[in-house]
Amino acid sequence: MTAHADLHRVWIGLDDTDSPHSGCTTATFDDLLKEISKIENVEIIERRLVRLWPFAERRTRGNGALACVIECPKKSLMFLEELLSNFFKQLLTELEIDENSLTSPALIFSSKKLDENFYWEAVRQKVDLDIRRKSLSGVKILSLENSDWGLIGASSAMAWVPSENSTWELIAWRFPDNIGTKRNITSSVVKKMETLHPETFVNRDPTADKGLIAPRTPCPVLYGIRGSKPQAVLMAHEWIQAQSGVEKCERFAIHRTNQLSDDHILGFSRATVLTKSIETKGAHSSLQVLSNGKNLTLVAFKEGGDVNRLLRKLMPGDRIDWLGMKSPDGSIHLERLSINSSLPRITGRPICCNGKTMRSAGSNQPLRCLICENVVEKYWLYEEINLDGIELINGWAEPSPSQRRHLSKPLSLGVPLSSGDI
Ligand SMILES: [Zn+2]
Repeated sequence: MTAHADLHRVWIGLDDTDSPHSGCTTATFDDLLKEISKIENVEIIERRLVRLWPFAERRTRGNGALACVIECPKKSLMFLEELLSNFFKQLLTELEIDENSLTSPALIFSSKKLDENFYWEAVRQKVDLDIRRKSLSGVKILSLENSDWGLIGASSAMAWVPSENSTWELIAWRFPDNIGTKRNITSSVVKKMETLHPETFVNRDPTADKGLIAPRTPCPVLYGIRGSKPQAVLMAHEWIQAQSGVEKCERFAIHRTNQLSDDHILGFSRATVLTKSIETKGAHSSLQVLSNGKNLTLVAFKEGGDVNRLLRKLMPGDRIDWLGMKSPDGSIHLERLSINSSLPRITGRPICCNGKTMRSAGSNQPLRCLICENVVEKYWLYEEINLDGIELINGWAEPSPSQRRHLSKPLSLGVPLSSGDI
């Protein structure tokens, strides 16, 4: 609770203000907060960038929504409400929304904390728009009358309760004149930044020697620096802005995020492999497993790198641990994979004359060669599992950094938890 009795805590959420061609909800939200901060005695406590279910039908890349927590004097609440309403009206004219437009913006504000379950639902599964709209009755929603998909993301971002180990992203935006031009941030500068600022992460894809902080779309974002602490991303940003040849940003802001949280998945599950993998279109591979009594199809995309390579080496009988998301078609899209390679992989009974397998006549009988009548005690032949060419971290394979989801926790930050531990 706040020290000043007349200060009210207000949650604000915004989503779906961008189109594939232009704009970015992060920049629009920053414009809004700039206006809000002009209100006397308003304090912005925290900005939040929240990633949601990657399979949501209506999403832009990364499926992120914005929210913030502010403190506002009671006497300014009416003024705040008016400001939000005017801002939204102005936004609609700028977005030039027509009936063919896919943009479906929503701006929400509430003086009460929204139900945390809104977040958990939206990060792990499909949300029904009508049900969510009904659950928000009494909450102030600014949206179009016939297209209000943005209220799912906006309300879910507002409902998120950050954990102690949540991550941070500093987003820097470009000067308007630069938007659409090439961003001047070399891979070597990003590499040096990473070395000098070890509390930042997922800045580069070392497998492709490629910087990951700058987007490749014509959006207003210059770059986003992720890290474990607000101070870490701020220092990295200040360092990179001081380097010659790096494009200067117009403005920046630090957001608390659920990125790298693994919130979108339950922990890992055990399984026994039932079939060899088959390759489907585009070099994606899939196989069948038995996991917690259920037959499942596990899919590893070509872009999954080591996850795909490991899946293709699996044989029936192998014991694995897997982590992934159930896709709308029911198959599991793998994000991380581990094989229990300490268990031998059985290849069969010993062989005697003419390459024939020795057989047993019954449960307590020895193995016998049907040609030379040779008899031995029962045993199995086995082979070592060859994992050459696959990089494992604590036994786990993961895709390269550029192919991971925003929500996925890199193995360098920790071994996955079992779904039983969650
Ligand atoms: Zn024999």
